[in-house]
This record gives sequence, C-alpha cells and structure tokens, in this order.
Amino acid sequence: MSEHDVVALTRSLLRFDTVNPPGRERDCARHIGAMLTEWGFHVDYHEFAEARTSIVARAGGTGSKPPLCLTGHIDVVPLGSNKWTRDPFSGETDGDRVYGRGSSDMKAAIAAILLAARSVANRVSGTPGVVLVITAAEEGGCLGSQHLARTQLLGRAGAMVVGEPTSNYPYVGHKGSLKFHARFRGVSAHGSMPELGVNAIYKAARAVAKLEAFDFGVPPHPVMGKPTMNVGTFEGGNAVNSVPDAACVGVDVRTVAGMDHAALRTRLQALLGGETELEVFSDMNAVWTEPEHEWIQRVFEICRRHLGAMPEPRAASYNTDAGNLLKAYAGAPVVVLGPGEPQLAHQTDEYCSVERVRQSVVIYEELIRDWCGL
Ligand SMILES: [Zn+2]
Repeated sequence: MSEHDVVALTRSLLRFDTVNPPGRERDCARHIGAMLTEWGFHVDYHEFAEARTSIVARAGGTGSKPPLCLTGHIDVVPLGSNKWTRDPFSGETDGDRVYGRGSSDMKAAIAAILLAARSVANRVSGTPGVVLVITAAEEGGCLGSQHLARTQLLGRAGAMVVGEPTSNYPYVGHKGSLKFHARFRGVSAHGSMPELGVNAIYKAARAVAKLEAFDFGVPPHPVMGKPTMNVGTFEGGNAVNSVPDAACVGVDVRTVAGMDHAALRTRLQALLGGETELEVFSDMNAVWTEPEHEWIQRVFEICRRHLGAMPEPRAASYNTDAGNLLKAYAGAPVVVLGPGEPQLAHQTDEYCSVERVRQSVVIYEELIRDWCGL
C-alpha cells in the first residue's frame, strides 16, 4: 500500500514517536510537509522551540472569500503506566482497527485531512482554497497553536474544521479552560513552636475549601451544561517537624461559551486573597458556533448523508487548538469533526476504526468541495 491510502498513511504517521513531553514533532512535520509540497501546497514551518515543529500549508485562494481551514495536532500523549498489548508505534492492524498511540487522537485525522486535501490540490486554484494548520504541542496546553497565533503565518480562514476525535459526529463547540497554580506563602518555624510561624498549608487548605464551594453564578449553557472546577494538585511543606512556608494548589476550570475569563480571574483572585499569587498557565475561551449558522447547516447536511441521521447540536468536553487559532481567524465558524473515537483518546491500546477513517476522507473532501464550489 502506498501513502495514498489513508490507512497506510496513518500507520506511517504512527511510526514517528511524537510523545509529548518531550514532543520532537520535527521529523513527522517534515515528512508531512514534503508530501504537501509535492502535491503543490505552499508549506511554511514554524518552531516555537527546538524540534517543536508546526506546519501551515495552503493551496488555492482568491481575493474575496477566505480559505477553509482544516487543523489537527501531531503530538501524542505518553503511553501511560499500564502495559500495552499492541505495539504503540508500528500501526498494527486487526480487523477494523488500527492500533497505536495517537491513532484516535489524532494521526488518523491528520492522514484523512492530508488525503482529502491532496485530492483537490490541483483543482483549487482560483477558488477560496484551503489552509492546513498542523500543530505541535497541543497536548497539555496548546503551545504550538498559541505561538502560531502570534505569527503572520496563519493568514486568513473563513471557517475551521478541527479533526479531534468525534467518531465523525460534527460538534459545534467545546468548553474553554483556565488552568492556574495558586501559591501561598507562610513563615517557617520549628514544628514544636508553630506559634512562631505562619502555616502556608493551612492557608492553602482554607483556599481549597473556598474553591470547592465556588459558585460560578452563570446559568447552564443549553448544550455545554455547567462550568466546572477541579483542584488537581496540592503541594506544600518538606518536613513533618517544620511549619511550611510555601504551598501550592493546581486548579483546572472548564468554562462554557459566553463566560468572560478576565472577570472570572478577578473573582478568583478576590476569593483567594490579594497576597495569593495566581500563576495562570493556560487560558483559552470556550468555542461555540450557533447550530443555525449557515455553514454549520451545510456541514450537518454533509454529515447526515454519512451518519444516516441529521446531527443534533453537541459540544466536546475537551479543549482544542481552535481557541488559539480563532485569535487569527476571528469570527470563523468552527466544527470539531474527526474519525477518532473520543473515549479511546489517551487510553492504553488506543485504536481507531478503519471504516471511520475512510469515511472521514470523504467527509473532509466534501467539505472542501462545498467551500470551494468544486
Ligand atoms: Zn487531540
């Protein structure tokens, strides 16, 4: 099988070890970029750090209507502590399944995007065209897209398809996230004389209790539901017989469409007290497009033909690069639509369905044709 077959291409992408951390996406990115160049795409590379390579590739393009963006990431999460029964990096196949780390999340989608783009590459000149944004470092903070959004490479896009795993069901949005460390300071003292110190763990514990009781004060979103908060880490102290002078908690907030992150940060700072240091390391708005949007309706109609029923508005719980890319593609409608199985993302013995992957090539191709009037 050649790399013009989507399963073969998926397998070849799975063989690149792009486990993040550390990432090392460069070889995989160069492999993809070389193919796109051969197919007539204009390819730009961007590295935000050594070997952390993202690609922006375009074909076609007219002055008036901007191109359709298809996007996905090539980094994958670590294998985890459970032993795999399949080789995570060889693209083993068994019946309808292609196994491997990143098969569902989301190298199969990358392969499908590439082959859909290839099939139209020589016909998009003089049409709005396509822009493919293949990112590094999506897992754990969307750093690749965050850096891309600061460059001029993204150009314009009029709508965006994010190939994260949805079993080819078109999702019209996903929650946002605000992740931060809250640092608490105290004064150290001998454990036998705690009255001489200030216990930072007590401060942190009181703060955690307040966070647990925090009321976002927003009505549930009709599709996304309620915002959530999770305190995921709690660190402090280094000896039982000392009063700890530092403590830190890690907090993960998932927001819904319409919430103002700046206002939320101000409220959280007030709740935790002025001297608590809030160190925000990820801040991405929720992504939402009204299901009635004209383009979303066209996407639904195309998917209906493959899914057998008209899609209903749904949203993903996970985050995607769209939050960052929308900084450049402001106002573009977004659909999350990919062949991977969402419940298999990040799992031991991750796999994707051959049938779904083949179906997604056709869906992506139809979306491009529809956008470009082919
Ligand atoms: Zn993903």
